[in-house]
Amino acid sequence: MIDAFVYAPLPTRVIFGSGTLSRLGEEADSLGVRRALVLTTPQQTELAARAATVLGERAAGHFGGAAMHTPSDVTDRAVEIALSLNADATVAIGGGSTTGLGKAIASRLGLPQIVLPTTYAGSEMTPILGETSDGLKTTRRDPSILPEVVIYDVDLTMGLPVSLSVTSGMNAMAHAVEALYAQDRNPAVSALAEQAIRSLGDALPRVVANPDDREARAGALQGAWLAGICLGSVGMAIHHKLCHTLGGAFNLPHAETHTVMLPHSVAYVAQAVPEAMATIERALGATDAATALFGRATAMGAPASLAALGMREADLARAAAQAVQNPYWNPRPLDEAEILALLRRAWSGETPPRRNAG
Ligand code: NAD
Repeated sequence: MIDAFVYAPLPTRVIFGSGTLSRLGEEADSLGVRRALVLTTPQQTELAARAATVLGERAAGHFGGAAMHTPSDVTDRAVEIALSLNADATVAIGGGSTTGLGKAIASRLGLPQIVLPTTYAGSEMTPILGETSDGLKTTRRDPSILPEVVIYDVDLTMGLPVSLSVTSGMNAMAHAVEALYAQDRNPAVSALAEQAIRSLGDALPRVVANPDDREARAGALQGAWLAGICLGSVGMAIHHKLCHTLGGAFNLPHAETHTVMLPHSVAYVAQAVPEAMATIERALGATDAATALFGRATAMGAPASLAALGMREADLARAAAQAVQNPYWNPRPLDEAEILALLRRAWSGETPPRRNAG
């Protein structure tokens, strides 16, 4: 049987290397940018000064209030500043939260975006925006949200703390893993996904062993780039649904939740998608995808349980009920009792079941 597919590559221009922050001025020029608003979190404001130095008179100002889950009141303030400065573009330097703010501004004002990622979240390669308003997180996908230029500078990731490197890297791994069994998967994205899993699987333990290992950092960042393309190109399934539910309703931290949940989500679909499992196993040099992901993450010191992230056992049943409402497409139907059993294993930090067990 011939597998039919649709493939629509995303048009973001990507510059990858070390010291590439220095290319920011010429990239701004190529977009015709004259008055850029630089965005950071409050923790990374020193990066704004570095960007401003490279931008020179193309820098209009700085907003340092980016926050997790793109709260709409933060976007309101940033939009006001962008308008008052007559900004004609944003330059987001940071992780997924800062990128999210650039996207939110783009969706309201249509400003072009240059993104310099400092984590492995992958948001910079996607036309997806999640925003929070009155405690409710809504996510949408629109071509206008996709950043125009992404400058990956390995140097900007050298100081990413080891714990965040691991969880952010596992967040990226999750994008690539779910791309392999996406309903709208295609051979090009699956090839990128396999390479993303291989790069991340190889690089992350080396980053943990030596956070100053520039080649390992480059491998992790390349894996994150490829994983971001996967997330931006095809639909996600059970794992992203569960993480969205846990993050949205129970306020669990984003990358850590992905890290804890990924092995359990993979175990849930494993029997239904043996080819995807074989690809993950080939990329990781392992014999069972779910237990390998669990073993790798815990060996790198990642949190192993939802309990460790502060989730209450009493909330598991509510989480399972929410997860099966409006489910994303999934290769195995979401059964509330089975999802609750999965969440219980994830909550207590048990090893997920092997694919061929029993
Ligand atoms: P983050 O951007 O929230 O960063 C976490 C913390 O680490 C912040 O305090 C930040 O300032 C700091 N930090 C970032 N890089 C650093 C570095 N190199 N050195 C030291 N500190 C650094 O975390 P994240 O995991 O990158 O992003 C999570 C957010 O991104 C969530 O809101 C999530 O929903 C979103 N996200 C969106 C998409 C998408 O496609 N829309 C994809 C992935 C993640």
